[in-house]
Amino acid sequence: MSKTLPADRPVPRPGILAIDPYVPGKSGAAGGGKVHKLSSNETPLGPSPRAIEAFASIASKLELYPDGSVTRLRSAIATRFGLDAARIVCGNGSDDLLHLLAAAYVGPGDEGIFTTHGFLVYRIAILAAGGVPVVAPEKDLTADVDAILGCVTDRTRIVYLANPNNPTGTYLPFEEVKRLHAGLPKHVLLVLDAAYAEYVRRNDYAEGIELVSTSDNVVMTRTFSKIFGLANLRLGWCYAPAGICDALNRIRGPFNVNGPALEAGIAALEDTGHVQAAIDHNSKWLPWLIEEVSRLGLRVTPSVANFVLIHFPQSPGKSAADAEAFLSQRGLVLRGVGAYGLPDALRLTVGTEEACRLVVAALRDFRAGQHA
Ligand SMILES: *Cc1c(COP(=O)(O)O)cnc(C)c1O
Repeated sequence: MSKTLPADRPVPRPGILAIDPYVPGKSGAAGGGKVHKLSSNETPLGPSPRAIEAFASIASKLELYPDGSVTRLRSAIATRFGLDAARIVCGNGSDDLLHLLAAAYVGPGDEGIFTTHGFLVYRIAILAAGGVPVVAPEKDLTADVDAILGCVTDRTRIVYLANPNNPTGTYLPFEEVKRLHAGLPKHVLLVLDAAYAEYVRRNDYAEGIELVSTSDNVVMTRTFSKIFGLANLRLGWCYAPAGICDALNRIRGPFNVNGPALEAGIAALEDTGHVQAAIDHNSKWLPWLIEEVSRLGLRVTPSVANFVLIHFPQSPGKSAADAEAFLSQRGLVLRGVGAYGLPDALRLTVGTEEACRLVVAALRDFRAGQHA
């Protein structure tokens, strides 16, 4: 008798049922009043008013398919960042591109590397492609180039690095990224996820454009979800070598960027003043939060992005879960990061001035053992 009798119902490919579904940050709070959503790294400034106008302008044309090659958007991105438009591929959020890269370059049994507290989408994309996730240890909640290189085998096909990383907020200086690239075999694809690049104020940081331009195996992904404030529209892009763009363009959805996203994206890129305002807001309130929360005796991981990771003791009544519940009662929604292997921490997005002040006041009361 055959050992491979068909099952009596459709069975997903190996790997699919090993995927823990991605759980987004909560939107609601336990208390009844105003809610401050500080759980998904969204911008407190909202999108550019010009982007909202551009979005609205297409409401009367919803029956038309969008431009599947997003020519105007790619050319706007190319102009803004000084790139070759032919080497830009856009997606339904950068998540779309992270998945497409695995689908194109990782096959059954192939290995994909990311770091211990790396963005959860990497594991999902590798498993969804039938690949084997390989986790490289970090040092001080920061990616460790030697550890990543130590994980490379002849089955390795892809390395995902969020720089800066979510949820830790830490980053690798460009010299380290270059050292990582130099140590990888030429057939291994290095994906630099620069979702938070605009927020970084460090001289030794680079998003990866130079590395993409000068090599055949590096891709940089970017998003309109964070500083541009268009998370709801789902728009991301990547800059990649021509051969990789060709592969992505063969397998992507033919209309994977919708028209409203396309129009709003172009308008958002043009409003450089709005982006600068978001940078200025973050540059003021990120260090303020780090200092104020540290003063409460809580350890805060140094962050260069628009969020901070706050560590709590394990003791009953003082834990991260207790703090999450306490803050939620006051309408302050933070992100529990147990799924990232950080059960004793909460991630806090830099919100409005009001939200920042409320969080610090609430944490002060929480630490003092007050009731919500
Ligand atoms: C938020 C985020 C993204 C962006 O995802 P989109 O699909 O573009 O909304 C990508 N990578 C990381 C590390 C992120 O935190």
